[in-house]
Amino acid sequence: MKYIASEEGWRVEYVPGTWNECLTRLQSNEIDMMPDVAYTEDRAALYDFSKEAVYVSWSRVYARRGVHIESILDLEGKNVAVLRGSVNVEGPEGIKTLVSAFDVQCEFIETDSYNSVFELADAGEADAAVVSKDYGHLHAADYDVVETPIVFQPSSLHFALTKGSSLTPYLIERVDSRVEELKGDQGSLYYRSLESWLGIRPAGGSVARIPRWVIWTLVGVLLLVLLLAAGALFLSSQVKTRTRELKAEAIERQKYEEMDKLKGNLLSMVSHELRTPLATIKGYSTMLIDYNDRLDNDEKARSLMSIDKATDRLVSLVDQLLDMSRMEAGLLKLEKDLVDPAVLTEQTVADARLRAPEYRLEADVPAGLPLVRMDANRIRQVLENLIDNAVKYASNGRVVTVSALSRGTELVFSVADHGLGIPESELDKIFDRLYRIEERPGTQVQGLGLGLAICRGLVEAHGGRIWAESRIGQGSRFVFTIPLGA
Ligand code: ADP
Repeated sequence: MKYIASEEGWRVEYVPGTWNECLTRLQSNEIDMMPDVAYTEDRAALYDFSKEAVYVSWSRVYARRGVHIESILDLEGKNVAVLRGSVNVEGPEGIKTLVSAFDVQCEFIETDSYNSVFELADAGEADAAVVSKDYGHLHAADYDVVETPIVFQPSSLHFALTKGSSLTPYLIERVDSRVEELKGDQGSLYYRSLESWLGIRPAGGSVARIPRWVIWTLVGVLLLVLLLAAGALFLSSQVKTRTRELKAEAIERQKYEEMDKLKGNLLSMVSHELRTPLATIKGYSTMLIDYNDRLDNDEKARSLMSIDKATDRLVSLVDQLLDMSRMEAGLLKLEKDLVDPAVLTEQTVADARLRAPEYRLEADVPAGLPLVRMDANRIRQVLENLIDNAVKYASNGRVVTVSALSRGTELVFSVADHGLGIPESELDKIFDRLYRIEERPGTQVQGLGLGLAICRGLVEAHGGRIWAESRIGQGSRFVFTIPLGA
């Protein structure tokens, strides 16, 4: 108590008295606090108690030397000295309750201090003495008494305080906090007192506590770990967001680079492709102007035909470019009508024969094909493009077969040739815009690499599919479908 008071800066007035006087003073608020009071429910009705147990004790029966007492039953007919008002006398597990439970009849001599309890036994006025184990441990040797095996009434010792006093809650809070602190430090005055007065060492037992600094260090470490974990989580979410942004940026950049490359390719291919027909037109027209008089009619006609062909080539290139840019911009419009696929196929083949008279172009169309809703001009354009390619890449194969048939829910067109063929690895790529298989053996055919991309765009705009099948050296077959119900 002195230690707590000095730590708290309290000025304490000590009021000495017998055990009972102290309890009475506490009850009547003459004193504020009393140490070392065993907690019982009865007492809790009269006093307030600090929550933190200061010590756990119990009581013991001592016998005057020469008196045989080994058990409660041996107290029969004996005089027993006890401390008046003590919990070990009046409490629910006190000696009075104990002997009556064993139906033992004995005489109790009540006195006001443990000193006089021992003195009574020592003087022969009592056969037995009941004291707390610690008092007995310290003082038994000073009297003519011996320890018996009878121990009873374990009790938890607390500070008792005046019930309901305005000071009590504050005192309880401070005392509890100090006792807890003292019990948390094995080198504290609390343990030094227990050791020097009672010979009790702090190792193990209910009083051994983890020192506060260890607890605070652990709490600190835990907080640090939590903080680091939260930091790591935050950082990882930041990293994820940034990674997503970077990926999106990379995709954008890739798109941009592809566009840029495409633009470059387009420019170089267009200028290259335009140059040839333009050179033809320029050459023949200059010749016609400069040598008009010297050229015969045949020569003039051939020149004009070359100019005408080169102009067709230019028109077709410009048409391809326009179609492609319309498709890219989503401006392609289909004008659908009910069309007879047989008539469409046969007319397209007949027109193609005029463009390529040296080839055998065959139309293979079964009778009874249904009418199909489609943009006839656009589907004709696809067929023409495929036929022109078949002729362009024919090599020595001079037969081209164009067919149309109805299969399931689709109308299936195909253009088959016996030309160069296409390597398997290229079969998908040839439908990409500006994709060409350069340096084909035996041909020096020119083109923009847009024809098949336009075909795919037109077929897909009808809800169909297009693909190529081929064997190198044996020929290719281009197939596309148009849904019948479109
Ligand atoms: P272009 O004919 O202007 O090069 P296309 O898109 O029409 O462009 O064709 C792409 C490529 O596909 C051509 O470069 C050619 O190598 C190949 N190809 C197209 N049709 C055939 C065919 N019938 N036989 C062999 N190769 C073909």
